[in-house]
Amino acid sequence: MNRKQFLTSLALLPFAKTIMTAGDLTHLTRSMESTGSMPVLFIGHGSPMNAIEHNEFTDGWRKMAETFPKPKAILCISAHWETNGTLVTSMAKPKTIHDFGGFPQKLYDVQYPAPGCPELAGEMQGMVTGVSVIPDDKWGMDHGAWGVIMQMYPDASVPVIQMSLDYRLSPQQQYDLAKELSPLRKKGILIIGSGNLVHNLRMVDWSGHHQGFDWALEANTLFKKLISGNEHHQLINYQKLGSAVGLAIPTPEHYLPLLYLLGLKSEKEAVTFFNDKMVMGSISMTSVKIAE
Ligand code: ZN
Repeated sequence: MNRKQFLTSLALLPFAKTIMTAGDLTHLTRSMESTGSMPVLFIGHGSPMNAIEHNEFTDGWRKMAETFPKPKAILCISAHWETNGTLVTSMAKPKTIHDFGGFPQKLYDVQYPAPGCPELAGEMQGMVTGVSVIPDDKWGMDHGAWGVIMQMYPDASVPVIQMSLDYRLSPQQQYDLAKELSPLRKKGILIIGSGNLVHNLRMVDWSGHHQGFDWALEANTLFKKLISGNEHHQLINYQKLGSAVGLAIPTPEHYLPLLYLLGLKSEKEAVTFFNDKMVMGSISMTSVKIAE
């Protein structure tokens, strides 16, 4: 694993068009009626190689997907799509983006041909009022999305859309934005935040054997305690949580998808942790499910 990831930052075109129609909306509302409320997941995605390996973490993702009905579509908020504005992918056939460097060719050969869901992207534009949701037809699926979802649904039968992390929004604003997405859970939509609670690439132990530095374990334990206790205010204001958390979140993009899970959680819902383990000293694979 002695390699460095070079994540691309793609310039987004300023204009994107919606392909939503009133007929689509009617169809969507009818087709996405659902009795129960779908769970919400935060997935610690770790190395891009998890997309094609079979290990305890990918087993955990697959088994988790077996605990609830197959979703009608997936909305993924990935650490790897940060934009100026809140964008949502609106293409019918999202491309598989290989947004990393230095990995084996077989990882670049992966295509995950899950369809998009332009109707869902269109519905989100009307559902969210706190910010403008802008349809995007340039992105696709980054590895924070397909690397996890293809392990959960290898037949690519579930449509996938992504919503970007808008770097203009404060953590509180992103938490509030998530709350506006809650009606989707009643329509059979699985919302996944994909990142890592503890994610410090500069301090990685490349020998691969370290189970977790003291500060990383301290931060991860604190995160779990605050999540379990519904202490969302503290998690939103993570910059005040001390030096261990400061090391765990050197940059916020892998942590912020958690705030979408928190925003979507009602007080009485249960929290389940899975894949609760550190890798390479400074990365937490800890994943979270909330469900009624
Ligand atoms: Zn990542």
